Amino acid sequence: MRVAAAFRRAAERRKNGERYFTGRFYRSVKTLAVTLFTSPRHFPRLLGYYVGQGRVRYRQPAAAAAAVLLPAAAAALLLGTLRQYRGVRPALEVMSAGQTLGVVRSEEVYRNALARAGETLGENAALPALPDLSYALRFVPETAFTDEETLTRRLLRLAVPEATPACGVYLDGEYLGAVENEDDAKSVFAGILTEAAEADRDAVTGFLQQIAYKQLLLMPGEGQAMSRAAFKTLCDRLTAEKKLNVKVTRTATETVSVPYGQVEISSDALYIGTSRVVVNGRSGEDQVTSLVTYVDGEAIESRELLRYQLKAPVDEQVQVGSRALDASFVQATGYGGILIWPAIGATHLNSDYEWRWGKLHAALDIGSSVGTSLGKLVVAAAEGTVVIAGVHSSYGYYVKIDHGNGMQTLYAHCLAGSLMVSPGDHVDAGAPIARIGMTGYATGPHLHFEVIINGNRVDPKPYLGI
Ligand SMILES: [Zn+2]
Repeated sequence: MRVAAAFRRAAERRKNGERYFTGRFYRSVKTLAVTLFTSPRHFPRLLGYYVGQGRVRYRQPAAAAAAVLLPAAAAALLLGTLRQYRGVRPALEVMSAGQTLGVVRSEEVYRNALARAGETLGENAALPALPDLSYALRFVPETAFTDEETLTRRLLRLAVPEATPACGVYLDGEYLGAVENEDDAKSVFAGILTEAAEADRDAVTGFLQQIAYKQLLLMPGEGQAMSRAAFKTLCDRLTAEKKLNVKVTRTATETVSVPYGQVEISSDALYIGTSRVVVNGRSGEDQVTSLVTYVDGEAIESRELLRYQLKAPVDEQVQVGSRALDASFVQATGYGGILIWPAIGATHLNSDYEWRWGKLHAALDIGSSVGTSLGKLVVAAAEGTVVIAGVHSSYGYYVKIDHGNGMQTLYAHCLAGSLMVSPGDHVDAGAPIARIGMTGYATGPHLHFEVIINGNRVDPKPYLGI
């Protein structure tokens, strides 16, 4: 009922050409409007406060609803009116003793400038504090706004008229010098980076050094702030002296080799302490794309981004002997060790140590079950001295090695011209001595391998661990 009465009174006032609303309601709308532009983040709470008050005052539900709607409607009306001022924005005019220092977009700009000026002043206790400031709501074109840095400088000038506000530039925390304003320094640095980026369009550029800016006051006798041109000259000199370095970051793709692993397979076909490779390992290949940072063309940092497998590595498979050495073998040879497989890549037994065609074939014939063994390497089965490297009517090209302690090995039917050793040569176990061929009395490519103990050709298998 009170609200209805208020409207009635307002209607009468309108007739008489007076204000529609006066008193408490009018004041609350005005406060809300000012708050909306000076510190918007406080607006919702203030609105809540007025609505709460309205509900206490107007207990009837209808009246309470009106108390909520009226301030909201008034705020909407105010916003609608503001939209009609094209190009004009609400702003805060910052003043000191009746003198305007600037017109800022929001309270935040004003607060930040005040904080920055305070920080600069705070480092020198001898300087006076900032004079009292006040601010008021204004409507001005956006182009008339004062930015944070300018306002900071004006505040400092106001506080210490004899000093020159400037912007200190720091490289990795070290004072480089002062410039008239921060934007000058920033544009010089940006220019250097743009130049570097044009030289390498796929790269992202930056400085190796950390750059920082700080507002400061140059007191009389402390020198002058550099102009943009003077600062550019300084930066060019620092760049030439490599005290200011541009770093260039770009992606780089390369193919890298991936080492193969080794798998050991226990085998009782081999004596303990011996091993043989059954599958050769093969390195893989990966394509790696990395983010690489360069300074003066030299990579200083690399971070892997992407890895794509081009070729998978193949593990080397090694048979490791698990058969215990029997005493009779050691006695028979008097030889501390045993023999290694004498052919690389040929593992098939074409003929065993056996009776063949009415006589003893006192050797192993080693060939290949897949493809041909022709040309594969023949290696010394143990360390020793070459006693024969020559040609024989049925052995063809052959090598005989003496291992001492009454033991010799013989390698026959080798490829013509493939002998790599001469009589008297000392060879290590596994040293290449020839290649598999089919010279002499042979029906196909194979290695005829004999083990001779005290002049007798014996079954080579136990000595090979098979
Ligand atoms: Zn043979």
